[in-house]
Amino acid sequence: MDPSEFRARAHELVDWMADYLEGVERYPVQSPVAPRATIDRLPLLPPENAEPFDDIFRDFREIIVPGMTHWQHPSFFAYFPANSSPPSVLAEMLTATMGAQCMSWATSPAATELEERMMEWLRGMIGLPGTFTGVLQDTASTATLCAILSARESFTQFQINERGFSPEMRFTIYCSSEAHSSVDKAVKIAGLGTSHLRKLPVDEQYALDTGALESAIERDRRKGYTPLCVVAAIGTTGSTAIDPLRTIAGICRKHKLWLHVDAAFAGSALVLPEYRWMIEGIEAADSFVFNPHKWLFTNFDCSAYFVRDVEALVRTFEILPEYLKTPEGDRVNNYRDWGVQLGRRFRALKLWFVIRSYGIAGLQAAVREHIAMAQRLAATIGRTPDFELLAPAPLALVCFRYHPPQVTDETLLDRLNAAILDRVNRSGAAFLSHTKLRGRYTLRLVSAQTSVQQHHVDEAWALILTTARALSL
Ligand SMILES: *Cc1c(COP(=O)(O)O)cnc(C)c1O
Repeated sequence: MDPSEFRARAHELVDWMADYLEGVERYPVQSPVAPRATIDRLPLLPPENAEPFDDIFRDFREIIVPGMTHWQHPSFFAYFPANSSPPSVLAEMLTATMGAQCMSWATSPAATELEERMMEWLRGMIGLPGTFTGVLQDTASTATLCAILSARESFTQFQINERGFSPEMRFTIYCSSEAHSSVDKAVKIAGLGTSHLRKLPVDEQYALDTGALESAIERDRRKGYTPLCVVAAIGTTGSTAIDPLRTIAGICRKHKLWLHVDAAFAGSALVLPEYRWMIEGIEAADSFVFNPHKWLFTNFDCSAYFVRDVEALVRTFEILPEYLKTPEGDRVNNYRDWGVQLGRRFRALKLWFVIRSYGIAGLQAAVREHIAMAQRLAATIGRTPDFELLAPAPLALVCFRYHPPQVTDETLLDRLNAAILDRVNRSGAAFLSHTKLRGRYTLRLVSAQTSVQQHHVDEAWALILTTARALSL
């Protein structure tokens, strides 16, 4: 493709992109394609000769788009969102065009220094103390893995890195039963053994039971284990429950455990001063992660990881082969040593574009409105006799189910609610997901998509109501 064709095609694609975003509501939110329908339309072998771009782009529209679930559709209420925004997309175009590999300062000084400044901006925007230093990771899963590896290495004076495990090292890790599966994965990868991960009970609000935490630590210690790390959740995936950080931090300090805080979704709400109570006690935490790629309008992937002791992070990961040696020394950051991967995307650019395009006030207004929509929906559900709320809704997620008063059989209730979810999602008009809370099938509606407005939530609720009431009991 020569430069003049690139220019013409780029304009053509930008037009498609703008049309897509403008008309995204025309698509079914969740893709209706059957399993294997897409792959059956893809040739078994790659082309021997160059194909015209028109054909490639046509196939994108005809084969790929119908098989996509539209995460930027305002009626996307499932999981947690993966928000994008126009400034973020524009920055990604520039990032892809320059195609820089930002593993170290020398491989793109501006990318490194912009990242450093963006992490300072974010730290201030969410009210973290200045004692924290940040770095971008691809995902919260990776950040949590970094935290658990850093905990392991700090505790052993970096001995496992060097010598591997010795048989007497039996570490235990603690989180609530509602913690994200990335904790299990990190424990697995870090070589600690998932049988040493203690998933502790939660209280009525689905927050970690701190009494159970303290007794588990003491019990493990008596049995000869070494309690290593607690992962506290600020906003669990199931119901955005908020673990009591200050109490957990006190327990960690007393027993000398690493405290990692997973605020993957809810961390974005910390741009609102009125939600900073969620991280009271954070100054005693060792590490903290939240995902601007979920709720802060910065397209996937972009996960902000903050640590109190950069030295511990870097010593856990650093490696210095001859070909990476440079003369700048300590004056610059080499982010390849701040995490798992060597090669790194230039992620800071989209954050810069997003933060400047919205301004702090714009980000706050959007997040505040998302929360207000969920609060209105929760109030409506609370007033609807044949529905019930199944968890507190502190943020932009509402957990609920259909529960006609005459139905008491839990199995039937599970089946009715699964049927509602299936019908609503198959309608294409809205997309919700589910979880189980205390064993009960729970519908989840997250009103945090970039372009969601009150009428989208109202329409989804109306659809849920009519769908529920049309079911035969
Ligand atoms: C979404 C989520 C994660 C995982 O995030 P990734 O960035 O996809 O790895 C971890 N923890 C919580 C609480 C989450 O909601």
